[in-house]
Amino acid sequence: MEQVQTQAPQTRDLIETSVAFYQDLLGYSPEQTSLQQIPENQWNEFAEQRGLNPNSSGIYLPRNQTAIIQGENPLSLFHEYFGHGLYCEQNLTGRKLVDLEKRLLEEEKQEFSSGRFTLEDIQRFRQQNQTFQELDEFRKQNLLQYETFAIWTEYLLSGGHGLREDFERKYDSLQGQEKESVDSVISFSEQYGNLATMYTQGMARRTTAERVRRLLEDVYKDKLKDLKFALLYGSRKEFSDIYVFIVGGGTPNEAHSDWLDVKYKSIKEFNQGLKNFDVRILTPLMNGDLIFGDKNYFEEARQQVLSQPITDKAIKHNLKWSYRMQRLKDENLEDDFLRNKFEGYSQTYFSNALALKQGLKLFSKEDLILYSQSEKLIELKGGRKNAT
Ligand SMILES: [Zn+2]
Repeated sequence: MEQVQTQAPQTRDLIETSVAFYQDLLGYSPEQTSLQQIPENQWNEFAEQRGLNPNSSGIYLPRNQTAIIQGENPLSLFHEYFGHGLYCEQNLTGRKLVDLEKRLLEEEKQEFSSGRFTLEDIQRFRQQNQTFQELDEFRKQNLLQYETFAIWTEYLLSGGHGLREDFERKYDSLQGQEKESVDSVISFSEQYGNLATMYTQGMARRTTAERVRRLLEDVYKDKLKDLKFALLYGSRKEFSDIYVFIVGGGTPNEAHSDWLDVKYKSIKEFNQGLKNFDVRILTPLMNGDLIFGDKNYFEEARQQVLSQPITDKAIKHNLKWSYRMQRLKDENLEDDFLRNKFEGYSQTYFSNALALKQGLKLFSKEDLILYSQSEKLIELKGGRKNAT
């Protein structure tokens, strides 16, 4: 499909400002998505050929990641190009949709490579094609979420461009499930900010300390002001949880959503854990990046871990928590998430106790797991007995 290069200034400006907005907010903007503009006086013909509702003003095609819009329609640009386009690039559901569409396209190309075929031929082929069935099912399951994201994108970008009235008019008649879903995303975004909304919708999380600082300010607002410091730790992968560790006065709630995991410790808890080489204190402290707060305090704490002696008390502390976590695991056998979580903690506490017993300071989960794997069972038993 041919990409139209001669965008009128209006569309070009809208793209430019929106791209800058996305780069700042998320650290990415549409890259693989093409934009095609159909002149307004040709739209009806185009819609008819495609079997679209003539009242529509745009369409997005996942199979070639192309947004097609009517002329200079800004809301359609937001919806198709930035809404569906970005969703299909930076969201796992969107990526799967594109993959399935592309696979179907390949299979259709193979089937119809020789000679002529009709629309009926394609329909017949699809009825018995497994990829099509899978795609159709996947589309149905995710349609509401997919559309909601694109409509919310229109809301978001129309606000920044003085077009909110056009948005209100366009969606005045929105009803039922779709209206409920869009309203709930809008009110979430007003409460927690745009970045949290993007992440809740499953968009890739390209986290930096600076981006997470803005996120925490949106979510916690003035509850952050008495904190000593906040750290970003964990894998920092695009589709993994964001792990934040905060220490301080004040008592912001810990948060556990499906993408944000905030652990909170008071200064007293933090200092005790530090002295005891507690896994849940040392892992974030020794691997985290400072998001905000008292840099000296943070660096001195790190220094203390490196220089302080390993005590019997510290070894026992880690063993004790290993058993506690084991017990919590046993109490939560029905819940996969909790069972795995407590099992993981129990193992890392235990490995840490063993490592400390041998005079080793290991600070990452990976090192602790490697360490425990390298220990033979008989040594584990010995370590456990000697330490208690
Ligand atoms: Zn749409």
